[in-house]
Amino acid sequence: MSFASTLPKSSLSTLKGLLPFLAPYKREFLLAGIALLVAAGATLAIPYAFRQMIDLGFGATGSKSIRHVNTYFLALFGVACILAIATAARFYMVSWLGERVTADIRGAVYWHVVRQSPQFFETTQSGEVLSRLTTDTTLIQAVVGTSISMALRNTLLFMGGLVMLFVTSIKLSSIIIVLLAAVVLPIVFFGRRVRKLSRDSQDRIADASAMAGEILNAIPTVQAFTHEGMESGRFTDSVESAFNTAMARIRARSMLTLAAIFLVFGAIVFVLWLGAQAVMGGRMTGGELAQFILYAVIVAGAIGALSEVLGEAQRAAGATERLLELMAVRSPIQSPELAQVLPARSHNGATLVLQEITFHYPSRPLTASLCRLSLVVQPGETVAVVGPSGAGKTTLFQLLLRFYDPQHGLITLDGVDIRQLDLHDLRAAIGIVPQDTVIFSANALENIRYGRIDATDAEVITAAKMAAAHEFIENLPQGYLSFLGERGVRLSGGQRQRIAIARALLKNPPLLLLDEATSALDAESERLVQRALEAAMAGRTTLVIAHRLATVQRADRIVVMENGEIVEVGTHASLIALGGIYANLAALQFHTPG
Ligand code: ATP
Repeated sequence: MSFASTLPKSSLSTLKGLLPFLAPYKREFLLAGIALLVAAGATLAIPYAFRQMIDLGFGATGSKSIRHVNTYFLALFGVACILAIATAARFYMVSWLGERVTADIRGAVYWHVVRQSPQFFETTQSGEVLSRLTTDTTLIQAVVGTSISMALRNTLLFMGGLVMLFVTSIKLSSIIIVLLAAVVLPIVFFGRRVRKLSRDSQDRIADASAMAGEILNAIPTVQAFTHEGMESGRFTDSVESAFNTAMARIRARSMLTLAAIFLVFGAIVFVLWLGAQAVMGGRMTGGELAQFILYAVIVAGAIGALSEVLGEAQRAAGATERLLELMAVRSPIQSPELAQVLPARSHNGATLVLQEITFHYPSRPLTASLCRLSLVVQPGETVAVVGPSGAGKTTLFQLLLRFYDPQHGLITLDGVDIRQLDLHDLRAAIGIVPQDTVIFSANALENIRYGRIDATDAEVITAAKMAAAHEFIENLPQGYLSFLGERGVRLSGGQRQRIAIARALLKNPPLLLLDEATSALDAESERLVQRALEAAMAGRTTLVIAHRLATVQRADRIVVMENGEIVEVGTHASLIALGGIYANLAALQFHTPG
């Protein structure tokens, strides 16, 4: 499901999709519109004032002429003042709108994207989303911020200028209109081409940044395999491809500009030549010709600007379309309209029931990752899940957190179907200690506080003490205020796990999901992590994907999974005595601290 290819082609009408974002700012649009009208009116008044100045001022003689010249110069200056104020006001309002609307769109897209289920991120690279948020929204900013006002202003100037041309000379205007009509066709033709190319060019940029994003996140791997050269090469190819597509667009755009200016000015020069003949023949005054020339310049300028704006607007239409596609993606996992609430929490944790769960990942419709799996976990119980790689242990956790819904079967938490719970309530009731802890680029205090944002410093420190993390954090250069670095590069594996455990303790959920790290720890770290886990499991129901002997020995029950099914259930001793899959696994897989 690549959302880029699912919608019909973009056209300017796509820009309508922006309306919901513009709607809250009706008052600002009105003010901008008024400033625009005043500025266009002032521009259109200038040629008329000029004509008066020439015919009545220069043409007449004596003191009357001086009075006229003074009056018309004063009027011209007045018009210029109005033009200056109205133009500045328009620029201010319109730029404000552009920035405001873009900020709103960025926020809305991000809000939407962070709520997508993992299925979305399986098919969409984060770099692509980032490119939408930056490049595409910048294009929209250009349109809302300038192009709309340019388009309106030039349409007004074009229409007003045209009317005034006819008022000045019907004959010359008729000729010029016929010529201008012949100009519009090539402009429309090239305009189409530019639009298609601009979408291609943005796709190429998104490709390049998606690739860069992935590689930058994997720099140690790239360097370990000494593939820096290859990766730079791949990126350069990708950038070159973006360049070539951009060049195709720029060439088309240049042709558009060339054709538009050449044809428009060619037509105007020809008509002026006719006008000059008319003045010499006494059929027109000099002032009228000057007025005609100025209006013709305004009309031609308006056409030129409109063709530019059209190009911009078409690029923005492409960008809008892509953002709207992103906004239209609905997460398959939603909270129900009328959510049920969990019963009051019991003192020793939650009851978890899985009934006949069958699940396959959306991208793998043919292979079931879980098959008719049933399990009841009592409050306070600790159940260890073991099994060979690919057995479906992590998948089980994903379903409990409702990152995916099973195709068949039912999961209940304290008797409530988890699909009937608000996603927020469900996930608030579950703590997770993942195999690979995410450490955010913040200090230790904030990293632990991620478990419960409103926790006080004292609560954070208590959680850290219970998770056996207090001592090592205290020994960091700035204690709890030490910056842990992007992705926690400054912590050891065991330390990161203890941070994760402290987070879960702080959250204090009735159900804890623990994914033990597969990597072996030294005896001291192992002892500390085990101590932390003991604290974490107390007073709650725990499901742990176990890789350590100490963990399975402490579990109330061990569930052995293979190929998405539960194949054995028992205690460590009983399963070893059984001599089945578990006995084999135990011999091979469990870490005993050395
Ligand atoms: P390990 O101990 O190696 O982590 P596991 O028991 O946790 O293994 P799962 O990650 O649950 O195994 O995987 C179960 C099956 O589902 C595997 O065959 C795996 O290839 C498949 N699988 C896991 N994640 C996805 C996914 N996002 N899309 C498609 N298939 C997946």
